[in-house]
Amino acid sequence: MKIAIIGAGITGLSAAYELSKQQHKVTIFERSEVPGGLGTYIKVKNNYIERYYHHFFESDNLIIELTKELKIDNKLKFYKVKTGVYCENRIYPFSTPFDLLRFSPLSFLNRIRCGLATGFLKFLPLPPYPLDKIPAEKWIKKYEGKKVYEKIWGPLLEGKFSKYSSKISALWLWGRIADRSPRLGYFDGSVKILFDALLAKLKKKGCKIMLGAQIESIEKDKDGVIIKGKNIEEIFNKVIITTVSPVANFLIKSGLPQSLRSHLKSIDQLGAVCLILELKHSIQSQYWLNLCDKKSKVLVMVEHTNMIDKKYYGGRTLVYLANYIHRDDPRFITTDEEIIKEYTQILKSINSNYKDSWILKSYISRVPRAQTIFSTGALKTLPPFKLADNIYMANIDQMYPHDRNLDQGIELGKKVAAMI
Ligand SMILES: Cc1cc2nc3c(=O)[nH]c(=O)nc-3n(C[C@H](O)[C@H](O)[C@H](O)COP(=O)(O)OP(=O)(O)OC[C@H]3O[C@@H](n4cnc5c(N)ncnc54)[C@H](O)[C@@H]3O)c2cc1C
Repeated sequence: MKIAIIGAGITGLSAAYELSKQQHKVTIFERSEVPGGLGTYIKVKNNYIERYYHHFFESDNLIIELTKELKIDNKLKFYKVKTGVYCENRIYPFSTPFDLLRFSPLSFLNRIRCGLATGFLKFLPLPPYPLDKIPAEKWIKKYEGKKVYEKIWGPLLEGKFSKYSSKISALWLWGRIADRSPRLGYFDGSVKILFDALLAKLKKKGCKIMLGAQIESIEKDKDGVIIKGKNIEEIFNKVIITTVSPVANFLIKSGLPQSLRSHLKSIDQLGAVCLILELKHSIQSQYWLNLCDKKSKVLVMVEHTNMIDKKYYGGRTLVYLANYIHRDDPRFITTDEEIIKEYTQILKSINSNYKDSWILKSYISRVPRAQTIFSTGALKTLPPFKLADNIYMANIDQMYPHDRNLDQGIELGKKVAAMI
């Protein structure tokens, strides 16, 4: 069969890999000049890093399996890293249960409640599906206490989902907690290693990869589907779309019932705005720092070179400062200068020695749809894989209740390929 895949992110590539193993003729259309989608990367000092911070968990079994199949498993290494919380003007280590026991912004009783309730979610053997109907905020306040919500979860939920935070389901929170592992995985040379190996394998299997190829319409035809873009018009037996649901709805010009169109359009996502700084000096010693501070304009700071030695990046400290912002929010289109000014304010609070002159280079990335808003009841409204005869969709909107990640992308790619 001749199959078109829209998008060369992990989901599209994973689907392409499965289908080409079965001798199907696959063509991938990717609008960007580089593959990887949300997992894409940039060059920094003769090396590469992800545009948006990425690491893996020891529970990411499909990634681990794929690296073995692609013979790059020696490149994926797991590291014990330090994580922390910045609140009340100081950094608190937050990597182990003992760190929680020492977390003085909470009373001892609240630390115990927080540990027990979070541990309960973490060690459940199966996803607790009834939590789909309960808002995370309500669940946390009931079982961990209002103070725990105020000091830890509230700033994180509100930082990530802003005005949508009170609707986010407790099952999403379970997904965030359950998949985590104490050690974090990272590829020597970034996730580019995975994408390069996957693309090389796909090319060997005869798969065509069209970069810089934006698809503008998908139309049903009596023999299959017609895919159109600038200088592109080709007929395929089947198509898999890996863009988010509202974009898939926009691309498909015929053959969808109105009710499905309204459903696809109603699924919303937050965008991400991420600043990478090359710095002369380190800011602090944690790899991951949750910024639970009302003053902070950013949700998270990831000091990448506290996991991977700075010698791999010309001796420079690499720091990510990131936030999730809805694409309709005016902050989404602020200028690069304003982003740098706003996002770096927190660095001075974290390290009083920090000066703007430490910045050697900066990179700003914005993506309008990066995190699906999974409100209560999301399980019942997950979009289908098969949208119409010969038209399929697999995307981040279907990763619930797990947290959106590359491992889930591989799973969705396999799932949709199996359906075909
Ligand atoms: C800030 C941030 C941090 C993250 N951290 C991690 C992490 O630590 N670990 C982890 O595993 N995951 C992480 N993720 C999530 C991970 O990146 C995503 O889950 C995954 O990349 C989604 O892959 P996908 O293929 O489903 O979608 P995408 O990567 O979005 O791929 C869709 C592709 O479709 C292309 N496309 C769109 N429209 C068209 C069109 N009209 N024509 C042709 N092509 C089109 C896009 O350019 C894109 O390449 C993070 C994401 C973000 C934003």
